[in-house]
Amino acid sequence: MDEKKLLNCVRDLVSIPSYQDTGEIREYICSYIKNLGFLPVVDKIGNIKVEIGSERAFLLNAHVDTVPPKGWEDAFQPIINHKKLYGLGASDDKAGVACLLELLRSIREEKIKGSFVFLFSVNEEAHPLEKNGAFYSLPHLNVHHALVLEPRTRENGEILLGVGCRGIYRSHIIIKGKRHHSGTPSPKDNALYLALDFVNKLREQELPSVTLSLNGKIFSLHADATITQIKAEEGMNVAPGLCHLDLDYRCIPKESKNSIEKWLHSLLKEAKLKDKVFFSNSWFYPAYFCSDKKFIEACLHIAKEENIILLPSFSSGRNDSTVFGNYGNIPSLVLGPGTMGQAHKRGEYLYLPGFFRSCNFIEVLIRELPRFFN
Ligand SMILES: [Zn+2]
Repeated sequence: MDEKKLLNCVRDLVSIPSYQDTGEIREYICSYIKNLGFLPVVDKIGNIKVEIGSERAFLLNAHVDTVPPKGWEDAFQPIINHKKLYGLGASDDKAGVACLLELLRSIREEKIKGSFVFLFSVNEEAHPLEKNGAFYSLPHLNVHHALVLEPRTRENGEILLGVGCRGIYRSHIIIKGKRHHSGTPSPKDNALYLALDFVNKLREQELPSVTLSLNGKIFSLHADATITQIKAEEGMNVAPGLCHLDLDYRCIPKESKNSIEKWLHSLLKEAKLKDKVFFSNSWFYPAYFCSDKKFIEACLHIAKEENIILLPSFSSGRNDSTVFGNYGNIPSLVLGPGTMGQAHKRGEYLYLPGFFRSCNFIEVLIRELPRFFN
């Protein structure tokens, strides 16, 4: 693939903010697609789709949204230094978007043939399932396999092949205790102390774990529960009556929203906190594990032919393979030209040699995959 075009594209994409409104980046992507002679279709929530060929297609997906800049002043000023392109979303997931756009050029130039759906999705970052762009697009997809482009490239040249990911359960928790002035003899039932009891109880818990094997590789997975935010401010001399917490629970395959909530309720009962703790705004994505061995083996085979070190891996974080895989029944793998470990970091960068290398590999991969599907 043309490195100069890839670089210009990712640089342009980084300079367009897309953490809230994705209108401007949508315009850029749509005109890029039109300039290549294809027809972009935009749905109600802002996903962009390009359909190529008349048969049941192979799905290629990348997300256009990023996390917020959170005080990073140069977040939208792409700077290149020592082969690294700095900017918010450079790796997650604008490298993936740029790769898809240039793959359209490869199709235009007939370097790749076949039926494809390109999906540039919105609302991938921290949105409940109902708002997730990939989820929204599912009823309109006629595809047999999917490749989700997320940062999976290491600076040492290795590329990871994501064969699954943990899911997520998020809940806002309100703890109701007794509010009182700190000067009065103090009972221990103020909301902050009750919250501490809850957090300590949570830390004692042994969470589910499982061992899965795939292509001779063993994956040991376990769930994690973390309180990520806590707030109780009713004055310097007030033992608070209300305390707010956010629970972030990372689940493994077979756990459901129901099973997690059941466990939470039994934990509260044990801690005698049952009528003091309330959950709101809970949302859930299940974990995913791709069981399509043929698909995985085909990717590994092609990598070998290309002298690429491709390592099957299971992601501890969530990605949209869980949406396509679990809700669309589409075998989905994750691979991408963004740099590993850079997502959601202040000072995020894209390691350019890895970016070009992975884009070239993905081009070969989607050109060669059809011979394994027939
Ligand atoms: Zn991402």
